[in-house]
Formats: sequence, structure tokens, C-alpha cells
Amino acid sequence: MKYCTEIDHNTIQCSLCEHKCVLIENAIGKCKVNQNVDGSLVCLVHSKPVAVHVDPIEKKPLFHFEIGSKTYSLGTYGCNFKCQWCQNYQISQSEIKNIESITTYTPEEIVHNALTNNCSSISYTYNEPTIFYPYARDIGMLAKERGLKNIFVSNGFQTETIIEDMKTWVDACNIDLKCFNVKNCKMFTGGDINVVLRNLKLLAKSDIHLEITTLVIPDFNDSDEELKQIAEFIVTYLGSDVPWHVSAFHPDYKMTDKSITSKETIFRAMEIGTKSGLKYVYPGNIW
Ligand code: SF4
Repeated sequence: MKYCTEIDHNTIQCSLCEHKCVLIENAIGKCKVNQNVDGSLVCLVHSKPVAVHVDPIEKKPLFHFEIGSKTYSLGTYGCNFKCQWCQNYQISQSEIKNIESITTYTPEEIVHNALTNNCSSISYTYNEPTIFYPYARDIGMLAKERGLKNIFVSNGFQTETIIEDMKTWVDACNIDLKCFNVKNCKMFTGGDINVVLRNLKLLAKSDIHLEITTLVIPDFNDSDEELKQIAEFIVTYLGSDVPWHVSAFHPDYKMTDKSITSKETIFRAMEIGTKSGLKYVYPGNIW
């Protein structure tokens, strides 16, 4: 599969995510991990994951898919968003240094490790998998052949071309629906919420299992009005049986001026979800 289009003889446009970076020779995109090398898009983190763990599938979170199973999870450096509260900012927002020093895990090794650890799936997670899609897809195609499922934990900012391609190998997605306010989304993540909403509708129409997560942040997206808009969008466009995970925020990265989300706020979000017609609303990060 080709992940870019040629603009002229040494300039290309990346077609992985909706930033659609135009890259002159040797230029690297906003995600810091995809580069124009001799007119082709090279994913610098291919086979170079920096986080590899065996997780319970409920940690993704997925509560309605392969319940009780283990999932082999991996992530790399880089991200196409710059969420001010990112809890994995050490890998998502840092510059890649000494890529050669990172242990290589080929797609074959990842699939082998998943099988020997008795995992029933592989999760592309921790940072945004769209930016390492060429690596994820190479793993995913092999995984599928060996009977493993593929799980994409994503911010939903892919191009339509990638969403279309995901239908051929991805089995389940958890998509972050971070807020419903266009201006706040742009300012605090660098993304466009309308693209995420478009992709959610496309995924809901596909055979890919879909669950949604919203990190509920005080004085950012926790008003009754905004939570209701999110819940009603899910009910109206994705389906009342799509699970919604409402998770508590804790201060991290550049967002240290806000407090931890209270249990009361999470319960309020759950009530708004169920009153809006959602059948499955789950709390996250509260004890
Ligand atoms: S994946 Fe990276 S290089 Fe490609 S469009 Fe997105 S930010 Fe730009």
C-alpha cells in the first residue's frame, strides 16, 4: 500500500492523517516520525516500538470485545496531536533520538511474542497508531493470518483512505472523543473534531467493533451541555449500544492547573449518557 501521493518530483503529501503534511525532500511531518526520503514516505519508527506490554483487554478500554483476554500492546515515539494533558507525553511528544539504539521488533517477532504470551489480539496503542500505520499494518496482516485480532486505540484523525484500509484488517477500535467544541479541540489538541466525528460515523457503519472514550476534564469538557452533546452524537450517529467510557482526568504534562476529576462528575457524566439513551456507559480511572 502507498502512504503518500507525489506532488512533484521531490515533494510528497502524506496520506496517513488529516494533517496531510506536504513534505519536501528529507522533511519530517508534524508527527516527527514520517519523512520524505527520495520521494517516498518512510516511517522512521517502523519496527522500533518503545513500549511493549501484555495488558488485559479491558485496559484499552474494550469491555464488549474478547472479554477476559490478554492483548499484546505496543506503541512508538510520536503523535499527530499535542494534547495538553497527554499521559504518555514522554513517548508521544518527545523528539526521536538514536533510533538505532531502540530494540528492533519485526512484525514477525511481535506476532510470535503475542502468541507465546497467550494473547488473543495485538493492540496498537500508547501513542497514536495512525502515525505508525505502515508498521501496524505489516504486523496486523501477519497477525490476522495467525488467528489474532487487531485493535486500534486512536484519536480518530486518520484520512478516509486509511479508514477504508483499516476495514481490511482491524477488528476493534477504541476512539477518543475528546470534546465537542471545535475551538477547544484545535487549541488543546491541534486536531479537528469534525474529522473525528466523520471517522466515527464511517467506523460505525463498518464491521469493526467500536467503543468510545472521553477523558472528562474539569472546566474543559465537563459541562452538562458538552457531555450531552457527546452522548447524543453517539446515540444518534453511532448507535445506542456503542459503549461510552467516561474516564477521570489527573493533572499531567502541560495541563497541571486543573484538578483531578471527582467521582461525582464521572457519575454525572454517566447519568447524562444513560438519560441520552446510551445502553452502556462505564466509569474509568476512579476507585
Ligand atoms: S502522519 Fe505525520 S507526516 Fe503524515 S500527515 Fe500525519 S502528521 Fe503529517
